[in-house]
Amino acid sequence: MDMHTAYLSIGSNMGDREENLRSAIDLLNADEAIEVTKCANIYETEPVGYDDQPYFLNTCLELKTSLDPYSLLKVCQKIENDLHRVRIIRNGPRTIDLDILLYDDLISYDPILTIPHPRMYERAFVLYPLKDITDYSGKIPEDKSVKLVDEPYI
Ligand code: ADP
Ligand code: MG
Repeated sequence: MDMHTAYLSIGSNMGDREENLRSAIDLLNADEAIEVTKCANIYETEPVGYDDQPYFLNTCLELKTSLDPYSLLKVCQKIENDLHRVRIIRNGPRTIDLDILLYDDLISYDPILTIPHPRMYERAFVLYPLKDITDYSGKIPEDKSVKLVDEPYI
């Protein structure tokens, strides 16, 4: 089977944020076509885009998967629904958000699935954890606070 490497950004700022991140990891691993192979440190981060909301917990994951990118996106969206994500305000509070950052060396301009994720290089809350599990050595913006709070969950 053709195996691929993907990197996800996951974040939560509603309910039990730690439990939400752990549940997302468990639900990804429960899919027989996905194995979570790395988890970055956990960071508490200042919200970006819409300020009047609680701080997030964020991390990044490395996955090995036989799924194509759109099937992986579907799994991510199902997990968001299963964890009762509610979308009220764009960029607003959410129990869980799973974004696909990278998928092998794929470049996709499809608005349904844009890879690399179009805003990842502007977001310290993505780049700090991504740096933990990849050789990313580029610039990291310093406009929003990102505080190391916990060790990787797996
Ligand atoms: P955001 O993550 O920007 O706060 P959402 O999670 O609500 O917003 O995602 C909005 C849309 O972004 C989804 O319907 C999805 O199709 C699209 N999208 C485009 N590229 C990606 C990607 N790389 N990862 C996840 N979703 C993506
Ligand atoms: Mg998203």
